[in-house]
Amino acid sequence: MSKDICVIGAGVVGLALAKEMAKRGMEVEVCDMKRKISDNADKASGILSKKGLDSTGINYNTAIVNALDGAVIHSKNEELRIKAKETKAFILDRAALSEICKKEAEAEGVKISLGRKIDKKEIKELQKEYKVIVGADGAVSTVANAFNFPNISDYILTYKAKCTVKQVKDKNVVDLYFDNNITNRFFGWVAPHSDSIIEIGVGVDSKFKKNSKNTFDKFIENPDISNIIGENEIINGQGSLIPINTREKTVIKNVLLVGDAAGQVKATTGGGIIFGIKCAKTAADAIWENITYGKDLRIYETEWRRKFGADLYIHKLIHNYYSLLGNNQMDMLLKTIKVLKGEKFFSKYGDMDSPKEMIKKFFFRNLVKNQ
Ligand SMILES: Cc1cc2nc3c(=O)[nH]c(=O)nc-3n(C[C@H](O)[C@H](O)[C@H](O)COP(=O)(O)OP(=O)(O)OC[C@H]3O[C@@H](n4cnc5c(N)ncnc54)[C@H](O)[C@@H]3O)c2cc1C
Repeated sequence: MSKDICVIGAGVVGLALAKEMAKRGMEVEVCDMKRKISDNADKASGILSKKGLDSTGINYNTAIVNALDGAVIHSKNEELRIKAKETKAFILDRAALSEICKKEAEAEGVKISLGRKIDKKEIKELQKEYKVIVGADGAVSTVANAFNFPNISDYILTYKAKCTVKQVKDKNVVDLYFDNNITNRFFGWVAPHSDSIIEIGVGVDSKFKKNSKNTFDKFIENPDISNIIGENEIINGQGSLIPINTREKTVIKNVLLVGDAAGQVKATTGGGIIFGIKCAKTAADAIWENITYGKDLRIYETEWRRKFGADLYIHKLIHNYYSLLGNNQMDMLLKTIKVLKGEKFFSKYGDMDSPKEMIKKFFFRNLVKNQ
């Protein structure tokens, strides 16, 4: 074991981890099977909270496509409108974000080899060569597979596309559509990229064995959506998948997993970038202590679960709850939230990443007011 760290996967999470390690003076190599860093970037969306993005340390400004200050949650017959007074989130161009992450990692001295697919046999060889191996290789992780990490049991199959329309309703608001007969255990979305370009997407639980493109076709029959699309052409359709539960183990010997490979994703929305990067920073600390002082790498497992486990768990509970609701029950839920003045509460205190913080605010806001 003469070399320091090999990261398999140059997604945003793998690159964030590599940058953190290089900053600490470690020798880091990253390899990825893609030929260009931006390949496949369009398979996923890029809706990220401003607060979360600011915490990553990534200089993301040039990747911003649009700013969001609200969301409308639609059930069959109800709508919940959340509208903040300020920008809460950005839609980023995923290809541009990948380029930025690559440049920032390289500026710290990270070596990145593209066009290099690592198979199970080669990973075992690399394990002997490097002090630490990081699997940042996404939802279907070859690293996890090679070292028999526990499986991820829940996946959402997705399909998303773009469309140029005459005029979007509100350029700064994303629409989420819940219909458990179509997008089972997930939802469909319409995200404005500009006054006239929208992204339309769906997710459906893989257990339903539905084709995500067929689900998409069914989703866009919704009169709300078909009216927006009109006669315009839908372009750049792509399918992918999102893991929505964490692996029970993310460290085995000198191998650890981060990001989608570890299932560090918000089960409510499928957003994985912010938590993936936060966990990557925790991993970087653990690797540094392991290489420098010989400390046990399993501290990574304990630490990321201590810092982010509760939030990811609450996301999972919320997802489990909404995914069990039939359409009438979803109508009732939205009605009840409105009666409880939830629209006002979420507009003021809504936090896309940390339900823990939101729950605290919900229960203690009167206390804070009265102090
Ligand atoms: C439709 C959709 C919408 C989404 N929307 C959002 C959103 O709005 N906000 C958000 O935060 N997240 C969103 N996500 C999730 C987000 O895209 C992921 O959480 C994030 O990309 C995970 O980053 P990663 O670096 O862990 O993995 P990835 O981005 O999957 O990167 C893994 C890398 O590993 C490489 N690789 C895999 N196997 C090998 C191998 N054997 N050898 C070499 N290289 C390999 C791949 O080429 C890839 O580059 C969305 C996902 C989807 C599918």
